[in-house]
Amino acid sequence: MTNDQLIYKDPDSLLRLTLRDGEARVLMVRTTRMAQEAADIHMASDTAAAAIGRLLAACAMTGALLKEQNGRLTVTVSGDGAGGRMTCGVQAGRLKIAVANPQAELPPLPDGKLDVAGFVGRRGQLAVVKDYGAGEPFTSLSNLVSGELGEDFASYFTLSEQIPSLVALGCLNGAGTVLSSGGMLIQAMPGCSAATLDNLENRIPFFANISREIYDRPIRGLAEAWLRDMNPVFLAEDPLELRCDCSRMKMLRALSALNRKELEEMRDSGEPARMTCHFCRTVREFDAADIGALLRGETMLGTD
Ligand SMILES: [Zn+2]
Repeated sequence: MTNDQLIYKDPDSLLRLTLRDGEARVLMVRTTRMAQEAADIHMASDTAAAAIGRLLAACAMTGALLKEQNGRLTVTVSGDGAGGRMTCGVQAGRLKIAVANPQAELPPLPDGKLDVAGFVGRRGQLAVVKDYGAGEPFTSLSNLVSGELGEDFASYFTLSEQIPSLVALGCLNGAGTVLSSGGMLIQAMPGCSAATLDNLENRIPFFANISREIYDRPIRGLAEAWLRDMNPVFLAEDPLELRCDCSRMKMLRALSALNRKELEEMRDSGEPARMTCHFCRTVREFDAADIGALLRGETMLGTD
């Protein structure tokens, strides 16, 4: 399966709108292409791919709420499920994702659905780190609620950020193919009326099958259909892509953190040191000359 075979051909994107003169804000995302690419990179099981599609959607939306456009957001889900730790990063619409055990597979649930909660884990923590490039990064921790990720992010927003939030996430996939993936986040802003809250809650059933809904329709069209009576104002639709920010320089910096003895052993082993990026699986090699230069302090470890 390649992205050329997708039914819905538009690139992945994130849509922002407000409702009722700013009483609520809404984000919607399509992450279909990214989910397929990430599943292919990690040779993911179908259940892992479903978790990947959902986490990419949640991370893209959480990242879109950063106060500064060039801020970086990293979400780490440390659950007790078969998949182990999942880490997803986003900066300016570019996402990357890593999974500890992406090939772990679980039997489907009695209703035939993929057991995402079994993969992620029903117990554990969600850590959200916001890094604005200056000062210390800001970290919030919250407990997993169900391991389905949607409820876990809703709990993060409601408890850690104190913003009442609805989160719908979904990934429709099987047999190595991601048909659609995406999500929606609705947040009540200060001053949001009880009537608006009721009105939004009544629509939750619309959002429950979001991956099926966005399978062959533009997200803007869906938002218009679902929210047309709530005075939607569309602010922007921005592209999203899976793109890792790793580099040879960053890996050299990581190597330079090893102690001298370890580096000397590496230099003298007769084999190049191989380092694999957890996110994009790019393998880079560092030979004895590279390690020797690092030991002699001759390598410029810039900030690329
Ligand atoms: Zn990488």
